[in-house]
Amino acid sequence: MITGHFPIAQFERLETPFYYYDMTVLSDTLRTVNRERAAVSASCSAFDVHYAIKACATDAILQKIAQAGLGADCVSGGEVKAAIEAGFPADRIVFAGVAKSDREIRYALEQGIFCFNVESLEELEVISSLAFEMGTTARVCLRVNPNVDAHTHGKITTGLSENKFGIPMRFLPQAVACCYRLPAVEFLGLHFHIGSQITDMKPFVHLAHRINELVAEVEQMTCTDPNGNTVRPTVQHINVGGGLGILYEHPNHFPIPDFKAYFDTWRTHLHVRADQQVHCELGRSIIAQCGNLVTRVLYVKKGENKQFAIVDAGMNDLIRPAMYGAFHRVENITHPEKEEQLYDIVGPVCESSDVFVENYHISAVERGDLLVMRSAGAYGETMASQYNLRRLPGHIISSPK
Ligand SMILES: *Cc1c(COP(=O)(O)O)cnc(C)c1O
Repeated sequence: MITGHFPIAQFERLETPFYYYDMTVLSDTLRTVNRERAAVSASCSAFDVHYAIKACATDAILQKIAQAGLGADCVSGGEVKAAIEAGFPADRIVFAGVAKSDREIRYALEQGIFCFNVESLEELEVISSLAFEMGTTARVCLRVNPNVDAHTHGKITTGLSENKFGIPMRFLPQAVACCYRLPAVEFLGLHFHIGSQITDMKPFVHLAHRINELVAEVEQMTCTDPNGNTVRPTVQHINVGGGLGILYEHPNHFPIPDFKAYFDTWRTHLHVRADQQVHCELGRSIIAQCGNLVTRVLYVKKGENKQFAIVDAGMNDLIRPAMYGAFHRVENITHPEKEEQLYDIVGPVCESSDVFVENYHISAVERGDLLVMRSAGAYGETMASQYNLRRLPGHIISSPK
């Protein structure tokens, strides 16, 4: 079995399970993102990349991404705080989320974040009144639900009319008018996010076409400001959201997602003027392949017709298989040379869904072997819980090259 490169001697001294982040993979990924971003920015207009904090919020990781010059995409006040503490400049932070609390809105206003991605007319009114009370103005983009199918797993689809996210397209003119009428919001542009783990560029092409139509529609409107003056809205900022997927099957062969194809898709299909700025919010594609969950085999148990490799990591440590039916490649790094056998690899949690993978070929395992679940950097550690009163998984960061 081919495995990644892991410091096994170091792993042997640690209590499992834990996450292991390979900073070489993260550095290579960030370098590629910056290169492809610069290439597309040179040929259309500035393209600003924000890292979606919710994918992985481990301190050292956030600091590294902030140092690479990315902005931050947050979905809670806690994430705004983590972003600021990690060194992301406040004026590069965007804040989305269907239900921002008053406390979160006030906190973000105090910090002077770049913009709120507003998901309803109701929220717009609240943001304006809180900003007004504070004697400030909130910069906003309107998050539109574009009814574009991301063709991804149902639980990570966000851009269909039936999803709770964003402002329905038919309310968009009303929301834009509202931005100009309200005293304490400034309309910056439009925001979208159609879903996650999108590896085929077609949904992004559809989204680009939809965005072109909506920008034209908004810019044909006339609005009235609080003084009764007529204003023509300009969409200065277009935020296309995140969602670029990774190849979970091939962490060793394709550790870096195809950022070139992603940026080229926007360059080709999105109409952007020189006075407009495009933003994207990448989470999974930045961080997934550098993270791994390291676990130890506790028991190899013979079932009636199956063989179970029972490991010390459970669904509380990595919930993606149970929650989304997600696949993570598993490698036996203690005995990679052994002949492969068929296992169900399962955790210790008292739930039938605590299964990482079924009918899976892996080098024969025995009690004490270290297994690595690959591509677990995104939505892994951040989603861990203490269910069954288990301890939270810790993490270690590889020493830099
Ligand atoms: C989760 C999220 C992202 C990041 O999605 P990925 O699929 O990890 O790239 C971007 N924008 C918003 C608004 C999100 O909620």
